[in-house]
Order: sequence, then C-alpha cells, then structure tokens
Amino acid sequence: MGPSQKILIPVLGLVLAFCFYSSREKFKPEMLRGKRVIVTGASSGIGEQMAYHLARMGAHVLVTARTEAKLQQVVERCRALGAGSARLVSGSMEDTATTQQLVEVAEAELGGLDMLILNHVGKSYFNYFDGDVGHVQKLLDINFLSYVAMTVSALPMLKRSGGSIVVVSSMAGKVGFPFTVPYSATKFALDGFFSSLRQEFSIQSVNVSITLCILGFIDTENAVRAAADVLLISPAPKEECALEIIKGGALRQREVYYRYASTKLPLLLRDWAAELLDLLVRQRYRPERLRAA
Ligand code: NAP
Repeated sequence: MGPSQKILIPVLGLVLAFCFYSSREKFKPEMLRGKRVIVTGASSGIGEQMAYHLARMGAHVLVTARTEAKLQQVVERCRALGAGSARLVSGSMEDTATTQQLVEVAEAELGGLDMLILNHVGKSYFNYFDGDVGHVQKLLDINFLSYVAMTVSALPMLKRSGGSIVVVSSMAGKVGFPFTVPYSATKFALDGFFSSLRQEFSIQSVNVSITLCILGFIDTENAVRAAADVLLISPAPKEECALEIIKGGALRQREVYYRYASTKLPLLLRDWAAELLDLLVRQRYRPERLRAA
C-alpha cells in the first residue's frame, strides 16, 4: 500500500463516520406530543423527572409506583406542566395485578401505548454481599422479572403503534461493581434479556425499538443517601439524565450512555484491558466508609 493510500483510507473512514452521524435524526420535543407513555418508578428520582419532561412535551403520561400519595402529586404537576393527560396506577411491580391494571388503563383510557419506560428499582443495600439468597431472588423479581412481565403485557399495544421500550439500567449492569452485588446481577440480566429480544425483533421485523440506558451515578435522593460517602465521584443531575433517556427512546437508539464520558469511554476498556478497568473502578471507592452492616 502506497503512502497516499495509507492516509486516504482513514480520512475516508472519518468522512463516512461524520456523514453517518450527522445525517441521523435529531431530537425534537414535538416527537413526544400526544404520545402515550407509561413510566414505572415515577414517584421519585429519575422516573419522576421523566414524567415532568414528558408532560412539558405534551405527552399522555401514565405513572406508576407503590406510593399513591406521591404519585398523585406527580400527576398534578404533570397536568400543570401541560401534559396531554396524566394518570396513575399504584401498586408493586412484584404483583402481576399491577402490570395488568397498567395495560388495561392504557388500552381503555389512552387507546394504546407508544412508549414503555421501565425504570423502577427495588431497595437493596450498599455493602459487601451478605449471602442472603432470598434478597437476590426478591430483587430479581422487582428489577428484572417484572420488566419482562410488563414487556410481555404491553407488547401487543406497542406492536400496533410501532412503539418503543426504554429500559433503565446502569454501569453496574455492564461492569462488575463492588458493594451492589444483588443489584448488579439484576441489571446484567436486563442487558441479556433485552439485547437478545432486540435481535429477535430485528429477525422478525417487529417494529418496536428497545433502548437500554446505561447510567452512571445520578443525584437522586436514594442513590446519594446510599453511596455518596463511599464513592469518590460526583453524581450527575437527575433532570438532565431523565431528558437524555427520553431523547434516546424517542430516537429509537440502541443504547443511551449518561454521562457519556464516564460510562461509554470506560467500557471501551472492558474487552481489552479488563483488569485495568477493574482497578480503575475499585479506585473510585472508599470501602473504609461503608456503614457497619
Ligand atoms: P429511586 O429514586 O429510588 O426511585 C425508585 C422508584 O421505584 C420509586 O418511584 C419507587 O417508588 C419505585 N419502586 C421501588 N420498589 C418498587 C416496587 N416493588 N414496585 C413498584 N415500584 C417500585 O431510583 P432512581 O435513583 O431514580 O433510579 C431510577 C433507575 O435508574 C433505576 O432503574 C436505577 O437502577 C437506575 N440507575 C440509577 C442510578 C443512580 O445513581 N440514581 C445509577 C444507575 C442506574 P415506591 O417506593 O413508591 O414504590
């Protein structure tokens, strides 16, 4: 290969990459106007913020979590922010009756569903794995199996609308993180299930997108309370995080990384320098600050 070809080939690659990325559709808030969206885990944290963004964009929001009083406040604020409509279903996602009720409300009162945002997360501990298998089982029920059940129940409506499934996961579902062993297991399970399902949708030409969201440390009340003393990194804002998730879902992206630099870039090391990545991860913790179990 001559010297000119050695330069030309990478330059051509860069030009093609630029054309590919710049021609991709850009996000516009109008994309959500009139869309019918379920947000799970919407009584606090990122889910609550997603409900408010969707409301400002004029979507019909159906929020769910266990705490009805908090959901009622979220619904009222969504209405004030300009939601097409706002409704709630309260109940635990461990209970199939909640899943069923959500689907029934979407079908009967919204006439279908355009986007399913799976975001809820069960309470776990931030500490060394304590060997409690029952807790792992319970967390799998809430953080994983209920995501599967909700997807199965909502799929007929999503197929009709050519809709989207948005799955909120974590860096802890891509890389082994200490002190969140049961939680990490549930997030890795989500990646396996939804990445495989996306392949089958593609083979079967099912027009339902699946967006997996890989989040770093976010400043929600529960996450900060659990981990801020031990983690050496600053949490990113939940409002911006919520918006990036919605954008990714609306654009039917395969995956969303937030914040990009602190999630996507470390993952580039995962397959080539796993030990180095493990070391870098461990250096971000102060285990001596863990609370006594
Ligand atoms: P959060 O503030 O603790 O909110 C969790 C939500 O889930 C609440 O609305 C809670 O409401 C609901 N929930 C809990 N157990 C439930 C159950 N059994 N059935 C139904 N709903 C239940 O959480 P967050 O920090 O916003 O996290 C949201 C998502 O982002 C999660 O999937 C989490 O894994 C992911 N994530 C967060 C961070 C972070 O640093 N914050 C980092 C990476 C990934 P009720 O208690 O009223 O039921």
